[in-house]
Amino acid sequence: MVFIGTFVKMSDLIQLLPDSVANQIAAGEVVQRPASAVKELLENTIDAGASEIKLIIRESGKMLIQVVDNGCGMSERDARMCFERHATSKIRSADDLFAIRTLGFRGEALASIASVAQVELRTKRTEDEIGTAIIVEGTEFKGQSAVNCPDGTSISVKNLFFNVPARRNFLKSNTLELKYIMEEFFRISLVNPNIAFNFYNQDKILFQLPVSNLKQRIVNLFGNSYGQRLIPVEQHTDIVNIAGFIGKPEFAKKSRGEQYFFTNSRYMKSPYLHHAVETAFRELIPNDSFPSYFLYLEVDPKTIDVNIHPTKTEINFQDIKSIYAILHAAVKQSIGKFNLSPSLDFNVEQSMELPALPKDHQVRPPTITLNPDYNPFEKRMRTENQNPFPEKMHNSIDGWQKLYQQIPMPAPEPELMGFPASESTKSIQVQNAFIITHTKTGIVIIDQQHAHERILYERFLDQPAGDTSASQKLLLPHSIQLTSDEALMVKEWLPHLMKLGFDMAEFGKNSYVIHSIPASVSTQNPGELLETLIESLKAPDKESKSNPNHVLAKNMAKKLAVKRGRKLMQEEVDTIVENLFSCKVPEFSPEGKPTLTLFTYEELNRKFKLS
Ligand code: ADP
Ligand code: MG
Repeated sequence: MVFIGTFVKMSDLIQLLPDSVANQIAAGEVVQRPASAVKELLENTIDAGASEIKLIIRESGKMLIQVVDNGCGMSERDARMCFERHATSKIRSADDLFAIRTLGFRGEALASIASVAQVELRTKRTEDEIGTAIIVEGTEFKGQSAVNCPDGTSISVKNLFFNVPARRNFLKSNTLELKYIMEEFFRISLVNPNIAFNFYNQDKILFQLPVSNLKQRIVNLFGNSYGQRLIPVEQHTDIVNIAGFIGKPEFAKKSRGEQYFFTNSRYMKSPYLHHAVETAFRELIPNDSFPSYFLYLEVDPKTIDVNIHPTKTEINFQDIKSIYAILHAAVKQSIGKFNLSPSLDFNVEQSMELPALPKDHQVRPPTITLNPDYNPFEKRMRTENQNPFPEKMHNSIDGWQKLYQQIPMPAPEPELMGFPASESTKSIQVQNAFIITHTKTGIVIIDQQHAHERILYERFLDQPAGDTSASQKLLLPHSIQLTSDEALMVKEWLPHLMKLGFDMAEFGKNSYVIHSIPASVSTQNPGELLETLIESLKAPDKESKSNPNHVLAKNMAKKLAVKRGRKLMQEEVDTIVENLFSCKVPEFSPEGKPTLTLFTYEELNRKFKLS
């Protein structure tokens, strides 16, 4: 062994590479572009326990990447050591590899970065009086001095790839490199809402992220509109804890947008788990749209493979199939919950403090039962069909009779009206236009169209303002294009439309997007409904000024009511009879046309000369 290096036989070919070359090769893997240096430097600040992190870049990191933190800092010795290959404070034994909780552990990043850039380090621990400054250029140690500096660490990486022109030329435009950096910044700041971040580009602040809850962090990163878009997801099982947010289906994007998975506070890619989320959304968003999600998985570190390449973001899970099923169910459940109760307040902060699994924890299959056929939208789908009587719909003919008995008719002053029909009433439809029924006082003939208009009219009018149960969310928001006149009119009428249960917002020039429609309306074309309403408002009607709610309710009822000539099912017949007699003014349509005629038994007796 002594001979190696001093005496090399001509037949021996193998030589050890000098460190500088080895480091540059490693750098090729670890530092491919400015964004990868940003990632490594930011991860080190997290591992150092920083609570405030500043990222400063120039020329998209090609000229400067500086990361300043208030973390634990380094001793003088560690400051010198940290640029050595395999210098890490994070792993001491092979066992540690199986319980990795820090982001770095290979001790390669700083060595790699320093081999392809001019690096300046300033660092100080709280317990030290004075800090250390070190300059390294392309692995060459250039100098060290004692400095006065704040607690924590500041690392400046200048002129990346200054000594590897081929790599420098390979870099993309500033716009693209900045995009890559931002992506790394998102991934790290999204897992650390408890850390404040400031990101400067060319001396301008790009992101200012105070310590906040996760939802606020997402909003601070992606814009205020996200405040309204997020639905929380939460699921705890023995195998995996899931927390985070998904974007409401109606905000799905045409471009692959914000889709983030994190496992144990680490960003990861997983096409397989992505599929679990995507299929949960499948029926709700168009094929060419992509849902947003920010999902945080917490698993026992022993059940994932951490021995992965530093720049790779895939993670191997021991029990990926169960995680898939749990994730799919959790997302579906959240969408379902949201759809069924759109008025729930989702601003309540979701605790992101998932309980860590105990050390000696035995992993068992999930204890929740998963129903693969569970469809949270079932209830929703039902109201989407064309039946104008969604709330009273029964599939079997037997069912309606029971229903009839179960729901007592709250008829006002029945004696006075001569109504209601007795329990044995069997109403029948004739000519696809009239309903014949009988009551205590006589035989009633109802005009189905006028009657239904009356029923709907009162329902629309009676909705208390701001009553969100009056509104049903559309599976997909519906946009309509208006003329500028119409847009003005809608703007003026918006409060009244909202009272009726429309939830709509201006969306660009003269167009609106409808998010919700009145709850009792079942229409597959909300745009058409709104257009009819707008048409009706155009009529120079004095009434519309003095009583706008009435005009809207009247026109909507007219539009949606079942028409003369339509064959009704028995339960529809009964629903009309029942609901008409519950109206305040059952005798007239909102336009003042008769809804019914009554032939009293007295009259009939007279007619047939029976008395
Ligand atoms: P790794 O993170 O894999 O350990 P690095 O090359 O990224 O390797 O860092 C080497 C060592 O330098 C770390 O283990 C840590 O001890 C120290 N270090 C790096 N950055 C910081 C920082 N911002 N604050 C404190 N210590 C740091
Ligand atoms: Mg590191």
